[in-house]
Amino acid sequence: MAAQTVASTTNAETSADSAPSTNSVDLGPAAALSCRECGHRVPLGPVFACEECFGPLEIAYDFSAYDTEELRKRIEAGPANIWRYAPLLPVPADVATKPNINPGWTKLVKADNLARELGVDPGKLFVKDDSGNPTHSFKDRVVAQALEAARVFGFTTLSCSSTGNLAGAVGAAAARAGFRSCVFIPHDLEQGKVVMAAVYGGELVGIEGNYDDVNRFCSELIGDPAGEGWGFVNVNLRPYYAEGSKTLAYEICEQLGWQLPDQLVVPIASGSQLTKIDKGLQELIKLGLVEDKPYKIFGAQAEGCSPVSVAYKAGHDVVRPQKPNTIAKSLAIGNPADGPYVLDIARRTGGAVEDVNDEQVVDAIKLLAQTEGIFAETAGGVTVGVAKKLIENGLLDPSLTTVVLNTGDGLKTLDAVASDTGLTATIRPSLESFREAGLLQA
Ligand SMILES: *Cc1c(COP(=O)(O)O)cnc(C)c1O
Ligand SMILES: [Zn+2]
Repeated sequence: MAAQTVASTTNAETSADSAPSTNSVDLGPAAALSCRECGHRVPLGPVFACEECFGPLEIAYDFSAYDTEELRKRIEAGPANIWRYAPLLPVPADVATKPNINPGWTKLVKADNLARELGVDPGKLFVKDDSGNPTHSFKDRVVAQALEAARVFGFTTLSCSSTGNLAGAVGAAAARAGFRSCVFIPHDLEQGKVVMAAVYGGELVGIEGNYDDVNRFCSELIGDPAGEGWGFVNVNLRPYYAEGSKTLAYEICEQLGWQLPDQLVVPIASGSQLTKIDKGLQELIKLGLVEDKPYKIFGAQAEGCSPVSVAYKAGHDVVRPQKPNTIAKSLAIGNPADGPYVLDIARRTGGAVEDVNDEQVVDAIKLLAQTEGIFAETAGGVTVGVAKKLIENGLLDPSLTTVVLNTGDGLKTLDAVASDTGLTATIRPSLESFREAGLLQA
């Protein structure tokens, strides 16, 4: 059984001193990198684009040695974080002993009050609440994977282009693991995101432009000698990073008693999370850990940044970039790298992609808070708002088991609801004054 160890600071990483290398590395069952477009395989290394066709590379595994029941027992006996799934991730066998912020195993909340409001059958609606991660967003899952890859490949600086949450997750993981960090964000993010990204002590650079400009800058830096030794978690380490999202699929199924949900509502920024949730569900089916049955994946965007939703509704296979303008800044990627794959998955599984406007996002944040006591960031307002809309337009079946993802914490996007909330009354510290305020009746 993997011990849930909080590693000591003496556990120095010798590989951090060496130059980045593509020599054979041991990342558990991860066997190679495989091109999503043409299937071309290359050895595991810090590369992300196919040398043949420029398609995205993803991790190919060899799970053939696993016995289903042994694997299930091993997972169930594992730590209450993502490392319980280490046998299914591209990480060294001793990953649980390394300094890491150990995200995951967040709550799957049975949302009966919200179900009543949305007209979903009792007991059928769940919120996977990833605000419970160490830096209060789902990004800790993906950074944890990229960090292990960075150790193995000998990077000394952790970096990323971020819409906000990723910057904080990288900062925290780097601080704990003893890496330098230098992260890049659009200069005009919410204060909560900026403070969260800065407090861990790494370098935080605001770029005059939107996320797509930030991302373009980072690609330039990677191609330049100045970027040598830099592990960009969502660029040159993207194949490893992306695998972290599979743990959401694993946890949801394990928390449902090793069963697939019928429907999932997943937010889309670059689309990476949605595609890897699908990959994770497919792996569980292939491994025999869940019974095979159809499931539908629904993608959720904000109207002010809805390139995938627009393409879905128009029946297009390509995603036309947009210039984002929405309060859901964590999802504001106008040119989503995995957009076409999201379209594929929504169509193949019988799901859909839908969007809601900023007002609906705010209403949904308040609805979730007032029914379930969960304060979501704007991305959670997007998924709950989209779930509501999908039920109203008949695309989401309210009689089936449905999981809606909340991927971030409302404390990071206070501005979204600040003007809509506040004191009920201001009184003098006396009973008389309280009585006058008229709040004694239930
Ligand atoms: C990054 C992020 C997502 C999803 O991002 P993808 O790029 O689609 O994987 C979802 N919610 C929040 C809060 C995020 O920060
Ligand atoms: Zn290729």
